[in-house]
Amino acid sequence: MPKYTLPELTFDYGALEPHVSARIMELHHGKHHAAYVQGANKALEQLEEARAKGDFASLPALERALAFNVSGHVLHSLFWTNLAPRGGARPEGPLAAAIDRDFGSFDAFKKQLTAAAASTMGSGWGALGWEPLGRRLLVTQIYDHQGNVAQGSQPIMVLDAWEHAYYLQYENRKAEFFDAIWNVWSWPEIAKRYELVAAY
Ligand code: MN
Repeated sequence: MPKYTLPELTFDYGALEPHVSARIMELHHGKHHAAYVQGANKALEQLEEARAKGDFASLPALERALAFNVSGHVLHSLFWTNLAPRGGARPEGPLAAAIDRDFGSFDAFKKQLTAAAASTMGSGWGALGWEPLGRRLLVTQIYDHQGNVAQGSQPIMVLDAWEHAYYLQYENRKAEFFDAIWNVWSWPEIAKRYELVAAY
């Protein structure tokens, strides 16, 4: 059975400084993300055991663990590719046009995504996703890693609002983190992802 594995970052842990500290990146990728990978594999193994025994008594707990850990792995894997040293500015091309169409302006979109992350109660994410039924972009607020999603929509850009994403550096000033992160978005990568999902 194929296992989930922790992806390598394409930049050093310190490459996003001063906006995101090296120590945060080291813990966030090397420990937190790694734990979701491990949790996803463990849930799959336990499900395999349950199938082998024909005993599904613990199925609800296993399905919950599977959704949480696989979603944590998916979102973190996406988050890292969304970021780049010397990123920032704003998107160009079809993504920029789609943002204007679906949110009115880049600034309105930026405010909405930042608010989605900043107003998370407990742990969660702000996300920009492509919703294929209406063929439009949506900003959503994800609970934990897996809750409150618009079914079928494909996240293309995510902003981690868990305390582990900022607390070591920004402490209780999370608004400063949600502001600083706009200096390190990898817009060419996000635009490429948009063009892939919107073509489909
Ligand atoms: Mn995280």
